[in-house]
Amino acid sequence: MDSSVVCTETFATDGCIMSGNQKIPRDVESDIESLYKAVPQLTKTFRIIDKIGEGTFSSVYLGEAQMRDGSRDMFALKHLIPTSHPTRIAAELQCLTVAGGRENVMGVEYCFRKEDHVVIVMPYMEHKAIVDIIGSLSFEEVRLYIYHLLKALRHIHQFGIIHRDVKPNNFLYNRKAKKFALVDFGLAQGTADTQIELLKDLVGLRKPSRPVFSERNLNNCASPTTTVKQETKTQLVKPVKTGALSSRSFPATARTQKTQRTVHLPLTCNCFQTDRVCNICLSRKQQVAPRAGTPGFRAPEVLTKCPNQGTAIDVWSAGVIFLSLLSGRYPFFKANDDMVALTQIMTIRGSRETIRAAKEFGKVVLCSRELPRLDLKVLCETLRGQRPEEGTLSSKPRVECKASDQRSETQVGKTPPLFLKSLDKKTAQPSLRKDCLTHDERGWDTVPDEAYDLLDRLLDLNPTTRFTAAQALEHPLFENL
Ligand code: ADP
Ligand code: MG
Ligand code: ZN
Repeated sequence: MDSSVVCTETFATDGCIMSGNQKIPRDVESDIESLYKAVPQLTKTFRIIDKIGEGTFSSVYLGEAQMRDGSRDMFALKHLIPTSHPTRIAAELQCLTVAGGRENVMGVEYCFRKEDHVVIVMPYMEHKAIVDIIGSLSFEEVRLYIYHLLKALRHIHQFGIIHRDVKPNNFLYNRKAKKFALVDFGLAQGTADTQIELLKDLVGLRKPSRPVFSERNLNNCASPTTTVKQETKTQLVKPVKTGALSSRSFPATARTQKTQRTVHLPLTCNCFQTDRVCNICLSRKQQVAPRAGTPGFRAPEVLTKCPNQGTAIDVWSAGVIFLSLLSGRYPFFKANDDMVALTQIMTIRGSRETIRAAKEFGKVVLCSRELPRLDLKVLCETLRGQRPEEGTLSSKPRVECKASDQRSETQVGKTPPLFLKSLDKKTAQPSLRKDCLTHDERGWDTVPDEAYDLLDRLLDLNPTTRFTAAQALEHPLFENL
């Protein structure tokens, strides 16, 4: 490492390194060392001060650079994991260069590469984590936040970019300066007519090699059940299903079939429309559909693995963020499993409504009991502690659900839909009243109905009728913005 770059550092005795006024933990310091070694060009330009983010696919560092005019600027240096696919990296960069730098979308300044190490350099934007400030936000701040998020989404959607991972961690918020920036195009995909050339190249990048008994084959071979069901929606729900098998659970049968291109196994599934999953269904290949992102922010069409997903999935995520901010609870939905996440959605939006919407995009969703749709205003006000708890929010029996498409049931989950109970006021609302402002001053007692109307349209279960970001920005809630 070029020692002149870090010569301002002095060693402290407690396992930390002092850099200016900041203490850097030892492991961070060694990560910084490794980064300098991996991409030595950085040493000439940046003094890397701290690590500010660490995810599965990258580590983000704060770096300072001396500019030509003598001033010092701060940058965020995103070091992508070396195993990232080159096209994936290039696509992320292209999203930033083509769409970034305006309309609340993060831009890019430089990019460094040495061998398989890539570092994307962006202007540094100071920000606070939503979880730390959610309790003290005013309604006006929330309104502004959602407005600016929708603006960023409208902008990237115009380029045919689907972000796929819209959540507060990827939407930087500088509360003081009222600045916003959408970051992290690491999971972005293109719409059919995307203007981001490299997003087109991503299609098929992550698809596994084609298995013999995939659902795709079944689609092509047009087994009678499949065809009928695809053409006639009213026949979607059938008490008995025939299906084809993957090779996993029925090795003998499958092996003998393997040489043929098409598979017609008249085996009867006995779990359809029940709340169990039979062995036949367990042995089916899962449908391959994009499902990147964070479960709690995934749209119903993502959770049920609908193959055609569009920019509407980002709008749903914005809706979940809005719900979170209006109710003062973050995260709102917390689930590691897609079916758990879907059940949580049903708990708010209603099981019948969810089932109906899923049917529109070709999925059969079964739920072991009916969950009524909740009034969003009542829900948010209750969770904010503005009205007494109304039993409906806290004591629900266990619910299980599963989603399936015309060809096979895709997943099953045991859900703890008591998640609303776990959103108990005492536990999940730690800082809501800590600050000295009263509710009145923060405007939570005068939230206009328009807010809940917009929320309702962002959280439309049906992606085809869900508001687009552009439509949302025209909503009366934003009239004077
Ligand atoms: P990942 O793909 O690992 O999630 P992100 O691009 O989301 O990477 O960055 C991770 C974190 O780093 C962000 O949540 C944010 O806290 C921080 N970060 C990223 N870009 C910037 C930036 N330009 N300015 C300030 N912080 C940033
Ligand atoms: Mg991220
Ligand atoms: Zn079955």
